[in-house]
This record gives sequence, C-alpha cells and structure tokens, in this order.
Amino acid sequence: MRKFIFVTGGVVSSVGKGITTACLGRLLKDRGRKVTIQKIDPYLNVDAGTMSPFQHGEVFVTDDGAETDLDLGHYERFVDLNLTRLSNVTSGQVYGAVIEKERAGEYLGKTVQVIPHLTDEIKSRIRGVGEQDKAEVVICEIGGTVGDIEGQPFLEAIRQMRRELGPENTLFIHVTLIPYVGPSGESKTKPTQHSVRELRNIGIQPDILLCRSKRPLTKEMRDKISLFCDVSPEAVIEGLDTDSVYELPLIFEKQGFGGLVADRLGIDGKPDHSEWEQVVSRVRKPSHRVTVAMVGKYMALQDSYISVTEAIKHGGIANDAEVEVRRVDSEEIEKHGPEKLLEGISGIVVPGGYGDRGVEGKIQAIRHCRENKIPFLGLCLGMQCAVIEFARHVCGWEDAHSAEFSDSTKHPVLHLMPDQEGVTDKGATQRLGAYPMRILPGTRARKIYGSARASERHRHRYEVNNEFRDGLEDKGLVISGVSPDGRLVELIELPDHPFFLASQFHPEFKSRPNRAHPLFAEFVKAALGQGK
Ligand code: GLN
Repeated sequence: MRKFIFVTGGVVSSVGKGITTACLGRLLKDRGRKVTIQKIDPYLNVDAGTMSPFQHGEVFVTDDGAETDLDLGHYERFVDLNLTRLSNVTSGQVYGAVIEKERAGEYLGKTVQVIPHLTDEIKSRIRGVGEQDKAEVVICEIGGTVGDIEGQPFLEAIRQMRRELGPENTLFIHVTLIPYVGPSGESKTKPTQHSVRELRNIGIQPDILLCRSKRPLTKEMRDKISLFCDVSPEAVIEGLDTDSVYELPLIFEKQGFGGLVADRLGIDGKPDHSEWEQVVSRVRKPSHRVTVAMVGKYMALQDSYISVTEAIKHGGIANDAEVEVRRVDSEEIEKHGPEKLLEGISGIVVPGGYGDRGVEGKIQAIRHCRENKIPFLGLCLGMQCAVIEFARHVCGWEDAHSAEFSDSTKHPVLHLMPDQEGVTDKGATQRLGAYPMRILPGTRARKIYGSARASERHRHRYEVNNEFRDGLEDKGLVISGVSPDGRLVELIELPDHPFFLASQFHPEFKSRPNRAHPLFAEFVKAALGQGK
C-alpha cells in the first residue's frame, strides 16, 4: 500500500517547508524506500514559468521541460532523483482541467463545485504522481500557509485522503515558526498553537510538528506544544538554523524524525546514511577555500539563482573546498567597471536571465575574465553574453548583439530559430527541458564530460546564429558542443585560457551535493588553481 505524507506550513511563509520536505525524502530514501515528492502551489498561475525571479525566486526546470517552483530543485538535490511535470501542481492547472471537463460535458449536467469536483481533481493528481513514479512513499508539500484562501481546496483534499486511506497510510506534518520575541527574550509557542487550531478547524490534526526556531526548544516548551496541539512530545521536532542546509537530514535523524515517520507509517528498513554523511563531512571540514563571483541581475532575492549557487557549492564539495559565492550586480559593473568589484575573485559565473538590463555589465565582466585569464563559466544568457563579447572585441564586430536586445544590429550573433519566430504566448513556449548534445573530440568539454554525448536541460528562446559561426571560429572561439544535427550550439570554450567555458543549457539543474555537475566541479578546480 502506497503511503502519503502531507507537509503543511503555518505562522509565516518561507519557514523552510521545502527543505524540510526534501530532508524527509532523503531520510526515507536512506531507509531503502522509493520516494517521490510533489509540490502544490495554490496560486492561479498554470506554472512558475511566467513569474519573475524577484517574486518567487528561480524557476526550476525538469527533464520533461516543466517550469516549476524552486522547491523541486531542493527535492532533486537532497533525494538525488529526477522529477517530472507531475511533481508540481498549481491551482491554475486544477481549475483549468475542471473547467475544460465541464465544457466537454464530462460532468453530465451536474453542478460543478469545489467539493467534490475540484477536490477529486486534486486527489487524482496526488495519486497520479505516485503511480507514475511507482513510489512507495509520496511526500506532498502544500505551498503557502494554513489559512490562505487559495489553499483551502487542497487542505480539504488531503483531509479526504486520510479518511479514504486511513491513518496507517497517511501522515500530516506541520511546519511552524517559534518566534523569539525581543525585550522579554522569550520563545513563543502561541502562533504555533493558533496555526494548529486553524488546521483542526478544517478537520486536520497534525501528527508531527516541526518547529523552526532560533533557540533550542526547552522541555517545558515541548510539553506545552504537545498539550495544546495534541501531539506527543517526541513528535515535536526542532528545526534550528544551520550553516549548511545539507546538515539538516542528519540533524533531524538524530532527533528521531525519520524513525518516527517510519514507525507511524509502518515503513521498515534500517537507515544507511553513509553517502550523505560523506557529503556532510566534506561540507564541515573543507581543506581549501575560494571566493567566486556570480554576476547577475536578480541579486536582491537570495533565492533567485539558488540552483546555480548550490551547484557552485557542489563543485566545492567535489574539490574538498568551501566556496564563498559573492553576488555582484551587473549594473554596478556598468557604473564602476569590473576591476574594483571583481578584485580578489578567483572565478566568475554569469548565470541566465532575460531582458537587456545589466547585460553590458555582464559583457564587461566576461571581457575581464578573458583578458586576465580568470576562470569563467557562463550559463545560458551567460554564454550568449560571452559570444557577444567575443564578437565585439575579438572579431571586431562592434555592434554585435543578441536579437533579443537589438533589432538594428548588423551582427545579430544570437537570434530566434525559425521555430520560435512568431511565438507570442509567453507560457511554456521556450526551448524547455532535456535535449541531447554531441561533445566534440579534442575539446576541454570532452575531457570534462569524459563522453561524446550528454543530455542537459534548457530554458531559452535565442540560439547562436549559424551565419556567424565560421567568423567566430576563425578567430579562435571553439564550439565544443552541438545538437545531434549540428544546427544548435550548446557549448563554447576558449583554448589558451585556464578555464573559459559556457553553455547554452543549464547544467545547474542536474548538479547534486553528492554528484557535482562536472562543469561546476572543473570550474571550481580551476578557480582553486588561481590560488587566491
Ligand atoms: N534570454 C535568453 C534567451 O531567451 C537566455 C535565457 C536564459 O538565460 N535562461 O535565450
């Protein structure tokens, strides 16, 4: 019998539900269970693809080309699995499907309602991901906070699932915050009590509470939470801040979290954390240290480049090094030049992005890397900027640009392929998801991948313009990865440079703490070689 674990959140948003859910996935995987994870986002967008990184952080992309919530990135990294579009459900999808069925006459003249029609649609999607992935355990995280108006149909649906499947096959975990209130210096359990009351109002009694807190929970606090929220004291788990999120699964295990979940659901299997312990011991005691810069535009929000930041750290883990990632706003480079802002930096990553704001600053940063032999890794827009930089300053095509940013340039070195021309809808219309590539012999990329073929995830509209390929190659740009038919450029590099490599795809989406993506591992190795 498949088991379902539901994770809800209370008190405030951004309390760490996503990471908690990912940690639980790891704890169950380490017990030899086949786990899948689903995120429910109650907003009305159909997917995260049309949302600004300033609002919701990075958009994560799955192999099958879904543009999803960034929590799927946490799930993939912690549990080391590849999810699909079924792992991200939104209100937009659910309402859309129900309305479509109504128009098709599938409800046979009935009044279409939130209960049961919407809730049935939700339940079938929660069951569906378990069936597709043949999972023993489905962990389903409900986004937002209990009490949000958009979240209600989802909470009702999971309440029904407990009734249908029984307490031995379902488990409710509620993640809350214990605030530490200033002058009196006290940790307060009241918001947690209120949030659990809110859940009970709709018929859900949590089995386990995970309490995020700045200070350790005292026995008194645990007893109080246990009494008022009607959970046993050992089911009150404490979630303190840590230096590295990768330590959390083992911290939770020590408190008995994994054992408790397994017991309640009748899941057996002795945990084997050896793989994860190795990751944590490298994170804790790195032999080397290095600072790299990430030059981008969505710098105000920490989550805007989360997969890139994590992939750089994975590159560090692979090299037994701690990497400090300095976030540099490319518009600042436009104002002050690259020298000062990039001083003391051993490597530079230019990640993806949209729109022309800050592009000139990225181009300046890349020129700085090329000319001063500083390791450089470009990702998607980062690669496109590297091509523009090379075209302008090495080929001498002064007005070179991407057609995304200029319609008057005589040298549109990046442009739309015919299949993208005339596309006006913004949702799910880019080149998305996994595509195969050929890696050419004799290149650095071939050495790094150790293979002539690879599959990588994409999310972009523009491509290198084949009209200018010969001109770029004549001047020394090496195209080291291409689509199987050779039409699309996937990877570029420069020889005679410690490390200058850029990809049209997003390698960061496939990097794991226990299996760093080779491009990031080699980039960090090159940065360490700079010895700064
Ligand atoms: N804006 C560029 C494009 O659409 C790059 C996209 C990205 O970096 N993800 O091609």
